[in-house]
Amino acid sequence: MTRAEILSSIRMDRLAEDIWTLVNVPSPTGREQKAAQVYANLLRAAGAEVEPESGDPQHPCVFARLKGNRAGRPILLAGHLDHIDVAHAVPSRTASVVAGRGSADMKSGLAAIVEILRLLNAASRDFPGEVLVAAYGMHEAPVGDSSTLTQLIRRGIAADAAIVMESDYSCRDKAVVAGAGQAIWNVTLRRAEAACHELNRSPEADNLLECALRVASSLRAHDRSLRESTAGRGLLRPESLFIGQMHYGDFYNRAPETCTMQGTRRWHPGRSFDSVQKEIGDLLSALPAFPGVTVQSALRLTGDAYEVNPDESIVQAVRLAWQTVTGTSMPLAGTSVVTDANRLVGLGNIPTVLIGFDNEFAHADRESVRLERLLTPCRVALLTVLSYLESQEARG
Ligand SMILES: [Zn+2]
Repeated sequence: MTRAEILSSIRMDRLAEDIWTLVNVPSPTGREQKAAQVYANLLRAAGAEVEPESGDPQHPCVFARLKGNRAGRPILLAGHLDHIDVAHAVPSRTASVVAGRGSADMKSGLAAIVEILRLLNAASRDFPGEVLVAAYGMHEAPVGDSSTLTQLIRRGIAADAAIVMESDYSCRDKAVVAGAGQAIWNVTLRRAEAACHELNRSPEADNLLECALRVASSLRAHDRSLRESTAGRGLLRPESLFIGQMHYGDFYNRAPETCTMQGTRRWHPGRSFDSVQKEIGDLLSALPAFPGVTVQSALRLTGDAYEVNPDESIVQAVRLAWQTVTGTSMPLAGTSVVTDANRLVGLGNIPTVLIGFDNEFAHADRESVRLERLLTPCRVALLTVLSYLESQEARG
């Protein structure tokens, strides 16, 4: 089969049927077992060998492989099985749209993996090396912490390159080679005395509000300085410290006991989570003391920053595939959205690219995917896999 023949044999009706099958098995984060079984069965029916589960049975990871008919290198296709745990109408479909929780994020990408394997298997597995598949849950925050993927990476994934089969919508036509790091920060201010009527408060009680205003303005100043010092550097937006929530008080005439603040800190490659933790600790300890008030901070890592060399074969393969399929060039880009590439590259040291499958309505009240928009990424992914594996064979 020529490449043109194999590309033209992608069948959207089969893809739609697999998305429909997957969307009808709910998989909110942390409860992915049933979806994992169903997905493993789809992969087996497509011709892949599915490995027995070797991780945490509560949070399964489906790992499968399709071997080519000759020696070569392995490539990984990866995606998450879970979807956000937000109520959605029962799944529905028309000739052109599949709607349901998880349809856009990211069961269409998972279904594309099945279609790709099915085609490669039907075409006598005429490729070098092997295609590995990993599908896991525990991805979507706040329940998800990427622990299933992290454990898989720690056990070792023998892949030379990876494609994560989702991308943020703004990067659907770009080759993402840099990802910002992100952590959620929490600051808690607490005064020694319990909350009380405003008229009964001690003179020190107002220090809580003074301290809160000072912490907020110091964080704002830090955000400005980060933006100025990192603007125009590389492909990413400037680094930032964003304040998303501040909670002071609980009643109009009570002097409160605590004030909590929360937000994000996003950073560029070259900076680590540890250094960001230290930076926020230093910032807070440099503030003047407010008698009777303690200040505590805690950061939770969402994903560390990463970079992939644009000369990596997998980046060249996806750009060439995009050019071939669409006739337009695929510019390099960075993303501020944390994806599984943050872990595959940072922790697994596996060069990784993203291919998006119409996730404009990810997490939306009505989550849906337009089938006509899936053909291009499906072609691009299939061609990227073949180009990558053949480029590695040529290299010997
Ligand atoms: Zn997703």
